[in-house]
Amino acid sequence: MEDKKYAFDSLMKITDRPSAVFVKGQGSWLWDQEGNKYLDFIQGWAVNCLGHSPQAVLDAFQKQASLLINCSPAFYNDPMIRLADLITQNSCCEKVFFANSGAEANEGAIKLARKWGQLNRNGAYEIITMDHGFHGRTLTTMAASGKAEWEALYEPKTPGFKKVTLNDLKAVTEAVNEKTVGIMLEPIQGEAGVYEVTDEFMKGLRDLAKKEGLLIILDEIQTGIGRTGRLFAYEHYGLEPDIMTLGKGLGGGVPLAALVAKEAVCCFEPGDQGGTFNGNSLITAAGIAVMETLTQPGFLDTVSKTSSYLVQKLEALSEKYRLGEVRGKGMLLALDLKQAASKKAVDLAREKGLLINGPRPDTLRFMPALTVSTAEVDEMIDTLEDVLKASLVDE
Ligand SMILES: *Cc1c(COP(=O)(O)O)cnc(C)c1O
Repeated sequence: MEDKKYAFDSLMKITDRPSAVFVKGQGSWLWDQEGNKYLDFIQGWAVNCLGHSPQAVLDAFQKQASLLINCSPAFYNDPMIRLADLITQNSCCEKVFFANSGAEANEGAIKLARKWGQLNRNGAYEIITMDHGFHGRTLTTMAASGKAEWEALYEPKTPGFKKVTLNDLKAVTEAVNEKTVGIMLEPIQGEAGVYEVTDEFMKGLRDLAKKEGLLIILDEIQTGIGRTGRLFAYEHYGLEPDIMTLGKGLGGGVPLAALVAKEAVCCFEPGDQGGTFNGNSLITAAGIAVMETLTQPGFLDTVSKTSSYLVQKLEALSEKYRLGEVRGKGMLLALDLKQAASKKAVDLAREKGLLINGPRPDTLRFMPALTVSTAEVDEMIDTLEDVLKASLVDE
């Protein structure tokens, strides 16, 4: 591969990036400009659900790009309609608004809930959200998020969010008042380190919402689109959200998100919501390729089987090295290292050609392509074992 030198000077520094410059991806594999090959268990942050440059998305792109890339959101286009149908036919919701990022979809969800509150709950606008939750990086979605590091940043942020502890039903019940319009949460807190909502909590929220007339807003941006082994994570819990947001995996790697809602909640009127690139035909065509692949018979069964295999292997490692629990569902998994070794492990793994993420100092997260093979899982586990041997400190 051509050897290029980069100075990196022109980009704003928004994170500490390693010096590798990635130039090519295929399936579970990435290559940098020096020709080094990496097994990718990050996949664009649970974005490339079919792996890097999947054929279905390439074909859809090529076909759609030569037909029509973009005609204003003021007009219908064919892929926009077909993708919305695929989402409504395969979910509990009837209406879709397309967005370009998860944060934008969540902003839309908050707007929709507030408008609904104006019409149906005497102007109620407050939304109860969870400590350590993550909903995006606009000022409003930062305010909705429960990241302690963000509290002092960019003040004043949007008011109207009340934080409670995840899985603490009593705290939610006590936080409800006449200004409350809804409860917003992730079925599995991804960025926080893969913490699952309990069945009991979900059922409690459903009963509380019903009793008080509140909306349930599920942020399925990380958990949706097959990530947990079901098309949407709410299917694990027997709870139907009134509003759900999708992003990450929906476009199979390209910027596509969606605000999805029950018909009864959809109170937007013309002029209330929009966006220049929203629902453009090129990007929604990629979404169709993703949805058609995921809804093929057996696809999600295979995801669940490979997930069980990966969980079993991680649990074996945990036992061997006396680590903590393996958390999560499907292809959204975390390993508790029980010591602050994740940064060292992530860096060492990368040097050994494996990309994994450390969402907490003591936690590793795994978000491979849904199409990852058991042979690739084996290879990941082998490298991970070497990495753990070198980065864990005996206590
Ligand atoms: C990634 C993520 C978002 C934000 O999505 P962007 O596309 O980065 O704006 C919101 N909520 C959850 C749960 C996420 O994982």
